[in-house]
Amino acid sequence: MTAKLLDGNALAKKLRADFKTRAEALAAQGTRPGLAVILVGENPASQVYVRNKVNACAEAGFHSVKLDYPADAAPAEVLAKIAELNADPAIHGILVQLPLPPQFDEDAVLEAISPEKDVDGFHAENVGALMQGNPRFLPCTPYGVMKLLEEAGGSLKGKEAVVIGRSNIVGKPMAMLLLHAGCTVTVCHSQTADLGFHTRRADILVAAVGRPRFVTGDMVKPGAVVIDVGINRLPAEQGGKLCGDVDFDSVKEVAGAITPVPGGVGPMTITMLLANTLESAERAAGQ
Ligand code: NDP
Repeated sequence: MTAKLLDGNALAKKLRADFKTRAEALAAQGTRPGLAVILVGENPASQVYVRNKVNACAEAGFHSVKLDYPADAAPAEVLAKIAELNADPAIHGILVQLPLPPQFDEDAVLEAISPEKDVDGFHAENVGALMQGNPRFLPCTPYGVMKLLEEAGGSLKGKEAVVIGRSNIVGKPMAMLLLHAGCTVTVCHSQTADLGFHTRRADILVAAVGRPRFVTGDMVKPGAVVIDVGINRLPAEQGGKLCGDVDFDSVKEVAGAITPVPGGVGPMTITMLLANTLESAERAAGQ
């Protein structure tokens, strides 16, 4: 059996075309969606992510500003900029690229962003709203995964969903969205005893581990939908390519549907950042 490919690039393209139309309509009424991205330091992966986010904004007709700070920037300076952006009516979304250098208290920085402009959905108020089933912004990566699951088709109600990973940015909000969608959810992590026992029960398996090709075919239930969130760079001696947390070659023979890496969850994460920024702008315009 060969699994159906869930093409994140194709879905992202379709959604972004719709966002562009909505952004143009909003701009014609005087509100252009605006995103501010703050980057501190020179982490090469962060630089790529930020560049991709800014480019995606430009392609969708959004206004964007990129604010770069050196690795030794004073937290007070960045916090002052966030306060300024909170008050700026041209900005509807503020994103601070993580990780931050060690002199920063990441939680304090995330809490400084106005919850109304917290398009990453990491502010405690927005995390709480998500928990209560009344979200303001869905965190972009899990939101993108839900869109891919929609594309895969079939109801999620009553399905066994297993999430490997319990981070605040992926695993935990992912589990919450699947729970709200009616799945029975199991969250696995590094202390889970007998991981395969859990993963083999999953109708929907989401891997957010950060370990290359960690999930192998023998860990997957035949016909399962497998979503690979991982982005891992292989060492140069193995080709230096990007690969996911799922061993694509063995899993595609067992699964019913699978996301590739690259071209699966990655493009959807940025797409949902655009979705959140657009929704924020529409709210600001009273729509
Ligand atoms: P974290 O490192 O914060 O979390 C990884 C999770 O995996 C932890 O909960 C950890 O458990 C768990 N884990 C580690 N080893 C094992 C193991 N042997 N068995 C079971 N669970 C294990 O990573 P993130 O959540 O931030 O990211 C996960 C992956 O997704 C990374 O590859 C990252 O690059 C990628 N990513 C991709 C995005 C995209 O747009 N596609 C966006 C964000 C992340 P414990 O809590 O016990 O330590």
